[in-house]
Amino acid sequence: MNAEKLFEEAKKYIPGGVNSPLRAFKPYPFFVERGEGPYLFDTDGNKYIDYCLAYGPLILGHADPQVVNALNKQASLGTAYGAPTEGEITLAKEVVDRIPSAEKVRFVNSGGEATMSAIRVARGFTGRDKIVKFEGAYHGAHDYCLLKKGSTTEAIPDCKGIPLDTAKNTLIIPYNDEDALIKLIDEEGENIACIILEVIMGNIGFIPPKPGFLELLREITEENGIVLIFDEVITGFRLSRGGAQEYYNVTPDLTTLGKIVGGGLPMGAYCGKKEIMDVTAPVGPVYQAGTFSGNPMSVTAGINMLKQLDDNTYSNLDEKGTYLRESMEDIIEDLDLNIKPVGAGSMYQVYFNPNDVVNSNDAKASDAKRFLIYFKELLKEGIFIPPSQFECNFLSTTHTTEDLDQTIITIEKALKIAFEK
Ligand SMILES: *Cc1c(COP(=O)(O)O)cnc(C)c1O
Repeated sequence: MNAEKLFEEAKKYIPGGVNSPLRAFKPYPFFVERGEGPYLFDTDGNKYIDYCLAYGPLILGHADPQVVNALNKQASLGTAYGAPTEGEITLAKEVVDRIPSAEKVRFVNSGGEATMSAIRVARGFTGRDKIVKFEGAYHGAHDYCLLKKGSTTEAIPDCKGIPLDTAKNTLIIPYNDEDALIKLIDEEGENIACIILEVIMGNIGFIPPKPGFLELLREITEENGIVLIFDEVITGFRLSRGGAQEYYNVTPDLTTLGKIVGGGLPMGAYCGKKEIMDVTAPVGPVYQAGTFSGNPMSVTAGINMLKQLDDNTYSNLDEKGTYLRESMEDIIEDLDLNIKPVGAGSMYQVYFNPNDVVNSNDAKASDAKRFLIYFKELLKEGIFIPPSQFECNFLSTTHTTEDLDQTIITIEKALKIAFEK
């Protein structure tokens, strides 16, 4: 069936026709039939080179043969037991071996569940209620974090359905703002359980930390007994083998993981120092649980994906990312456009914005109208990126040089159309 009809049908039974809001771009999304390597095939017979990659997990592309084989085997042995398996230890060891801050890890079912649990653990560990997040950072769709900055540092709900009372324990400041951070900790330090951040803000495009900002965060949290949480749901196993903390050489107390850790199946995790992790039930007083947590399907996929990610993988991805970004820079220069390509490793985005973007206010000043034209033109020509410049684009190991070259030609065409050149 064609996408337009499917979308009409879907809207009858599913709110907005989709199970996560971003998927509902106008006039209607394409419906996927299958994925293979870097490609998606839709129900209308179109093929796309995919740079959305399910918003991050598919670092080996779609349907990686090793992951698929392992899943086939596991499926015939059962998909959930409500009892532990040896695989959970194998995957936990992989995480501990790779992520510098990880001494122990608890597996959950999504990135959002990971941040929610890590925040509860930080509160339980410190006996404090308040938390700090940064403006524009996304940590999942739960009440602790789906908040925005009010007129002061106090958070207010970012959507209907979240009580003001829930918001009042969250404080929000702009990212990369050292003065705001120092002032807030001066005033509220002893009440703050944790500071949670996306080291690279990937849910508002791509905003890296300014030099020195992570070091300041590490120092100020240590001095004030605050748990430092890196939300590496995107960057974990993506930016480098050990994530953003290895890339920037700053080690947090807790780390949240998702996306890649489940090998393409639903999973999240939080990990960190033993003494903090051990406040989690059943050893400690902070309750945390899940029917499908550490289920053998997600664990099998996670093990078989992580085992394929070595230093070569990351240098290969870096090469591809650099090639793509440099080619985009050349195009932008040739066309004399005043816009900013950004990114690192296998992550990239282009802000339709003449200025440097260091926080969410900068990002929001970008030209959304022209970006939408760019997105639609790319899609029409068989290149799928997330439908917003406030998302990151991703590369996989399966993207070929031919794919990249075709993408670069198409990007040039789409930019010309978006900027009427
Ligand atoms: C995707 C994401 C989450 C939420 O993960 P889900 O699995 O969608 O719940 C949390 N934090 C960051 C940084 C993310 O990118």
